[in-house]
Amino acid sequence: MQDIIAQSLSVLQQAKEKHGERLVYPCSFGAESAVLLALIDQQQLNIPVITLDTGRLPQATHDIIAQVAAHYGIKITVFFPDHRDVESMVAKHGVNLFRDSLALRKQCCSVRKVQPLKRALAHYDAWITGRRAKQSATRATLDCVDTTDPVYGLIKYNPLAHWSWQQIMDFIKEHKLPHHALLDQHYSSIGCECCTRAITMGEDARAGRWWWEQGDVATECGLHVTSLRKPSEGEQGEGI
Ligand code: SF4
Repeated sequence: MQDIIAQSLSVLQQAKEKHGERLVYPCSFGAESAVLLALIDQQQLNIPVITLDTGRLPQATHDIIAQVAAHYGIKITVFFPDHRDVESMVAKHGVNLFRDSLALRKQCCSVRKVQPLKRALAHYDAWITGRRAKQSATRATLDCVDTTDPVYGLIKYNPLAHWSWQQIMDFIKEHKLPHHALLDQHYSSIGCECCTRAITMGEDARAGRWWWEQGDVATECGLHVTSLRKPSEGEQGEGI
């Protein structure tokens, strides 16, 4: 465990030394976020923390945002979707359009997540992510540094790339870290309330996201398009 923590700290320090104020942490407030926030705080790296409020988040996410800000004494900048885009999308397709087709689900993710994150990342060269190789088949080859972002050209640092889910949960427990209340209800990946569910024993960690879709299209929202291929329409962008 000490080796993997040291590796994560080294990745964070390397990112900070290389990018300084041009480095940002877009935080999702899932389990991995609890660990990253603690490691960033431990090293006093002063990496700015931002997040997205899609308008469909669980109340527990707002609660943990406030709790983390108070616990670490940090400012968390919240970015929102453009209200005109949301209103026009909902007027045309309804409030639950993401259930109707893959294309509409991707449109919703684009309007509520990808576009706001594009705006949020505009002033940065690099970002920290909580992605892990063991989260899903689409992330199996993930390494600690990813320089092949097909959309922004931003460098992505994945300090937890080689952590297991058990190591994440053990670290949270051992250090009594503030964490999302849904983690205690078997939510391994937390996003919008309507598109996230708890997982059962043996399920892929990302299985609780867009579970009504089939195949690997259901594991990514367009924020983290794999760097090995160009994103298709509706998948543009990278995120938390
Ligand atoms: S996760 Fe669901 S509600 Fe949230 S932006 Fe994507 S499709 Fe829309």
